[in-house]
Amino acid sequence: MNNYEVFNCDVLVIGAGGAGLRACIGAMEKGAKVGLVTKSLLGKAHTVMAEGGAAAALGNLDTEDNWEVHFRDTIRGGKFLANWRTVEIFAREAPERILELERYGAVFDRTGKGLISQRAFGGHKYRRLAHVGDRTGLEIIRTLQDKAVSMGIFDYPELTIIRLLKDGDRISGAVGYRRMDGGIVVFKAKAVVLATGGWGRMYRFTSNSWESTGDGVVLALRAGAELKDMEMVQFHPTGMIWPPSMRGILVTEGVRGDGGILLNSKGERFMFNYVPEFYRKETAETLEEALKWVHDKKNYRRPPELLPRDVVARAIYKEVQAGRGSEHGGVYLQISHMGADYIRKRLPSMVDQFLHLGNVDITKEPMEVYPTIHYTMGGVTSDPETCATNVPGLYACGEVATGLHGANRLGGNSLSDLLVFGRRAGEAAGEYAMQNESGEISESEISEEVNLLMEPLRRESGENPYQLHTELQDTMQEHAMIARTEEGLKRALEKIHELKERAKKIAVKGDTCFNPGWHQARDIQVMLTVSEVIVRSALERKESRGGHWRLDYDLEDPYWAQHNIIARLENGEIKLSHRKVPEMPEHLKKIIEG
Ligand SMILES: Cc1cc2nc3c(=O)[nH]c(=O)nc-3n(C[C@H](O)[C@H](O)[C@H](O)COP(=O)(O)OP(=O)(O)OC[C@H]3O[C@@H](n4cnc5c(N)ncnc54)[C@H](O)[C@@H]3O)c2cc1C
Repeated sequence: MNNYEVFNCDVLVIGAGGAGLRACIGAMEKGAKVGLVTKSLLGKAHTVMAEGGAAAALGNLDTEDNWEVHFRDTIRGGKFLANWRTVEIFAREAPERILELERYGAVFDRTGKGLISQRAFGGHKYRRLAHVGDRTGLEIIRTLQDKAVSMGIFDYPELTIIRLLKDGDRISGAVGYRRMDGGIVVFKAKAVVLATGGWGRMYRFTSNSWESTGDGVVLALRAGAELKDMEMVQFHPTGMIWPPSMRGILVTEGVRGDGGILLNSKGERFMFNYVPEFYRKETAETLEEALKWVHDKKNYRRPPELLPRDVVARAIYKEVQAGRGSEHGGVYLQISHMGADYIRKRLPSMVDQFLHLGNVDITKEPMEVYPTIHYTMGGVTSDPETCATNVPGLYACGEVATGLHGANRLGGNSLSDLLVFGRRAGEAAGEYAMQNESGEISESEISEEVNLLMEPLRRESGENPYQLHTELQDTMQEHAMIARTEEGLKRALEKIHELKERAKKIAVKGDTCFNPGWHQARDIQVMLTVSEVIVRSALERKESRGGHWRLDYDLEDPYWAQHNIIARLENGEIKLSHRKVPEMPEHLKKIIEG
């Protein structure tokens, strides 16, 4: 097969979110010619939706803050499953990456002294999130995009990569198709950076954008890379629950960081009943103390609404199960007591979102919220220093990668993750590409993949890809959501196997031009594989930790505190194994204990 366009580059970056754009800059700074592909348009990646801010221990408002406290908060918030070295690099470098972004032209909100302002978020001891109102992702993407474009990236928008190409053990490029007309494009690249983001779309209610189908993990698996802790999916405590068409859309943690409180149907501030022993010392004990914290963050402890996300999400679930839920089956999130001017200034997008989508004026009335699928802590395993995977020439950064967040991500830690590890991945891939020759491209790999892609269009009749997606979403929502059991997970696995068989018979009408059903036919195959790994890993981890809550194993288990679950593909089958979490050096253990 040679009916395709070819693009030659040193480094191919897959994904134009914050991680991918920062990787492009890093690789170009090493002298590499860089190609960038994205399923959507430049400037429209999922990162654009990020609201609350990027965490970095700048210490602008709370001068006691430093990288060590950020390190401690992240390891504790991740329930000790993160890679200590990844977290150390992250906490040390995040402040410089934020200041660098400012030098590139990002305009953050300011303190009275003209420094970058920082807001409080769950699990962070100090005010740490650099932000631009509640539109931080937009500013980050705008800034990185301007910088990358001015440096000369070669941009391929609306193109889906369907397979990584290899020469022997190492990466030699990738093949994809233009979403507009189905044209096949082959990228010859010495190194590839995966920055494809997360995978919430196999669940019914999610805050994620349409791009989040998990392509990166399947591309990596098929190329021989390892995945880690795929059972760790984050359920953000506050998604919209009403109206039904808006269910799952995020209500930023910034609402609680700026004084918002959670109430059940009896008007009780129920989070006071759910403070784990582990966090008791640093959490307000009384309503009075929590109220005082809003205006004096130095002398009072944080309210329980700002406990890590896994704790708050489980508490909301329990309140609803106990019959103390709101009218539409969630709980109430109230910020109206903070005053309309303050709310409009701090949370302009939230005001618009509720007014226009739900006809609720949050400056006067409470919001109704329930946990929504939000983030994926598991992903492609990579080296903390370089983001290199176990496949030579393949790098991974951003949400598709794993290691930083352990069992639960702290809010704000993703945006700074993209900057810290996007840069490291780009620089390492750039260096690798400048030191290595191009590999060969395999015609048979390309033909095989393109054949698979075209199959649904050749069938006269068969399964409908949208129907399969609906059934998968219902299954994952019911059995692999916030509260899991062996019985439910086994049912989910059975259903996934059934759907995989049916997916072999998908038929789609029309041709390759402007055909969303055809895109869906391919995306559902990817989502089925990702779902299988999530469910099998969730069955394997017989304990509760962070985002993974097993009703039948409701406690943390010391064995699992020290083990990650690794997934890889062997002869087309997913194989799981356990690997010891790397031992933290003594000097860092002291920081955690301190
Ligand atoms: C509503 C919302 C609010 C959030 N707020 C915050 C916040 O305040 N602070 C914080 O730290 N985090 C926040 N997050 C999380 C954070 O936004 C994401 O984790 C982060 O943006 C992911 O960035 P990324 O660069 O890894 O990937 P993304 O931004 O998801 O980009 C992925 C890119 O990969 C492309 N892609 C995927 N598959 C393919 C393929 N097969 N071929 C070609 N291209 C492909 C996509 O088109 C896209 O360009 C929020 C998330 C949501 C949903």
